[in-house]
Amino acid sequence: MTPEEFRTAGHELIDWIADLRSSIDERPVLAQVQPGEIRSGFPTGPPTELSDLSSLLERLDTKVVPGITQVQHPMHYGWFPSNASLSSVLGDIASSGIGSLGISWESSPALTEVEEVMCDWLRQLVGLSDQWRGSINDTASTACLVAMLVARERASDLAQNTGGLQAVTSPLAVYTSPQAHSSVAKAALLAGFGWDNITMVDVDPVTYAMRADALADAMAADVAAGKTPAAVVAAVGTTGTTAMDPVAAIVEAAAQHNAFVHVDAAMAGSAMLLPEIRHLWDGVEGADSVSWNPHKWMGTILDCSLHYVRDVELLERVMSTNPSYLQSQADEQVTQYRNWGIPLGRRFRALKLWFHLELDGIEAIQERLRRDLANAAWLGEQIEAADDWEVCAPVALQTVCVRHRPDGLSGEALDEHTLGWARSINDSGAAYLTPSMLDGEWMVRISVGVEATERHHVEQLWDLMQRAVG
Ligand SMILES: *Cc1c(COP(=O)(O)O)cnc(C)c1O
Repeated sequence: MTPEEFRTAGHELIDWIADLRSSIDERPVLAQVQPGEIRSGFPTGPPTELSDLSSLLERLDTKVVPGITQVQHPMHYGWFPSNASLSSVLGDIASSGIGSLGISWESSPALTEVEEVMCDWLRQLVGLSDQWRGSINDTASTACLVAMLVARERASDLAQNTGGLQAVTSPLAVYTSPQAHSSVAKAALLAGFGWDNITMVDVDPVTYAMRADALADAMAADVAAGKTPAAVVAAVGTTGTTAMDPVAAIVEAAAQHNAFVHVDAAMAGSAMLLPEIRHLWDGVEGADSVSWNPHKWMGTILDCSLHYVRDVELLERVMSTNPSYLQSQADEQVTQYRNWGIPLGRRFRALKLWFHLELDGIEAIQERLRRDLANAAWLGEQIEAADDWEVCAPVALQTVCVRHRPDGLSGEALDEHTLGWARSINDSGAAYLTPSMLDGEWMVRISVGVEATERHHVEQLWDLMQRAVG
């Protein structure tokens, strides 16, 4: 494809995207397809004839879009807001169009340095001090894995340079909460800690936040058993209920054992753009690393996950191998992001953050987050006030966890009722909510915060819910 052919086709594609987004609320939220249905709409072998873009877009419409669960839909309340602001989409397109190769500073100085600038802007915007330096990863899962690798090496005095984990005699232990995201246990397992050395620390029965006293007890018990506490992962905004682990107290408990503290704020980091919310991660300055996803609530299109560390030297000692063909004279003066994480090649992700901040504006983003907090609080109040309905966890941010508990229903019958009314809404395509377990019982998570979701959409959801149980 020549640049001139691209120009024509590109305009057509942009029109197609704009049409899709402006008609999104006419579509079902949940993809109404059966397993295998999309695959079977494709030929079994690769194409033998050339297509033009118009014909491809037609097939995109008929063969692909029906298989997309529309998370940009204003009635999407599932999982978490995965906002893909159109301003950041433009930045993503610019990044693809530039087509740079991010394997070293030399291979694209701007890619490295704009990433440094964006990480620093976002650091300031969430109120972190200038002791932090950041990079952009694909996901929070990756950041957590890197944190676990660094924690392992810190606790083992860089054992990777000799016999590795296999030569460490005192087992290294990791602590997190049962409410933490599944990626935390996955990262600890991939880093070689092993299930036997992962402790799920008790949470408070009301707030679902990790109990720092229980953490201290678990670490002391491990030390008595000959283990070495290596890392704690604190969740700022847990997956189930958006609970806030007490970071200051966790940092203090971890410091007794020189354990590494990683703060997983994948979801709630966006909220820290609001000064009035920042008290929820008090103590974060004492942690060793922090990650959060602008690609969730803030709305920079996926993938865009920020990872901040205080000790860059340690990070680079663990993550760098520095083969000769990548060494250069600039090494002393520049950041080589390949030494900050797992992949060698990186995309120019900073552009979508830059476009998002410049084209939407920080104040507008903040106002949208405040709108969502108010909408979630409103919904929580309606549910609390209604007969037979309950809010089953504190509404810390924009997630509302709810059960409808009619008289006489409990146990399995209640679970069936809960799954039933959630499924009836989801299957209808009118809205999407996520059923999830809490304390061994099903509940329904309503995650408010899609860019397009206004108060009247939340009112409409509350209506749907009341009708679904009726
Ligand atoms: C979404 C989420 C993750 C995983 O994020 P990815 O970027 O998809 O890896 C991890 N932790 C928490 C608390 C989350 O909300």
